[in-house]
Amino acid sequence: MLTVICESPGHLQALERPRPERAPGEVLLRVKRVGVCGTDLHIFTGNQPYLAYPRVMGHELSGLVEEADAQSGLSPGDAVHVMPYLSCGHCVACRQGKTNCCVRIQVLGVHRDGAFTEFLSVPQAFVHRAEGVSLDQAAMVEFLAIGAHAVRRASVGTGERVLVVGAGPIGLAAMIFSRLRGAVVTAIDGRQDRLDFALHEVGVAATVRLGEGDEAELARLTDGEFFDVVFDATGNLAAMERGFRFIAHGGRYVLVSIVQGEVKFSDPEFHKREATLLSSRNATTEDFRTVMDALRAGQVPDRALATHRLTLAEVPTGFSRLLDPAEGVIKAIVEC
Ligand SMILES: [Zn+2]
Ligand SMILES: [Zn+2]
Repeated sequence: MLTVICESPGHLQALERPRPERAPGEVLLRVKRVGVCGTDLHIFTGNQPYLAYPRVMGHELSGLVEEADAQSGLSPGDAVHVMPYLSCGHCVACRQGKTNCCVRIQVLGVHRDGAFTEFLSVPQAFVHRAEGVSLDQAAMVEFLAIGAHAVRRASVGTGERVLVVGAGPIGLAAMIFSRLRGAVVTAIDGRQDRLDFALHEVGVAATVRLGEGDEAELARLTDGEFFDVVFDATGNLAAMERGFRFIAHGGRYVLVSIVQGEVKFSDPEFHKREATLLSSRNATTEDFRTVMDALRAGQVPDRALATHRLTLAEVPTGFSRLLDPAEGVIKAIVEC
């Protein structure tokens, strides 16, 4: 079967590998669609420090069941999506139902080989039927669920003023699910094309271009009070530290993106607001359900989000193009 492996940073290679053997309790999938994620781009550029190369990337996948245990309830040909965070089920986090931050988490395409291939065998517990959605939509559930999880974590409520810093795919997902909870959403980013997308496709209430006067504009939009909930989805340390300034008194700050390094903030500023600081990691089955419901209800601009397509065979030559900001990539989908 055709498989694309990342040999080392910057080097992708297509090769033939034997089809995986399905172990009992696993589902053998014929991979159909794989979304390309920021994580994959970081693996490709070598900015994913704890990753061992070579690695088959790809964790945002949908496919068809090829083979499953008789009692699994799955039949050959069933369309499915996969929850790529393989959790242990026993650790302190799993015992609380927080499988998204499992101590021994294994993420497909990061800790073990992922979906840039034709067949993949995964434990049945992480395979879900993609009922009522297309294969394209099913491959978008994961990144949308990261936004849905962050929004749930922050308990965003009706009428709350939400600021999302960073309008990449995860930021857009946080905007979508904040809006679905009735929040009034503002997006801030350095790229006008992404702000235009947030305004026209996601329907945020306001956008602010990063740069001179941006803080005054955020103040103006909120009568000087700033935001009940601020999400950081930038992956940028300076932006994460700056985001503390935009929290209203009594507000929450959710760090969705992660950086290598230490985040600093002014304690008097943090304390006088009695602010709540949260991190948000991955997503759980509850968040996957939230996303599936929203997709089925037509509440996600999934067609607009899928800006680029390529086939699995085109990945070695076409991947680096996805890194070019001029391409305007929001979500690229690989077809297998
Ligand atoms: Zn992803
Ligand atoms: Zn665990």
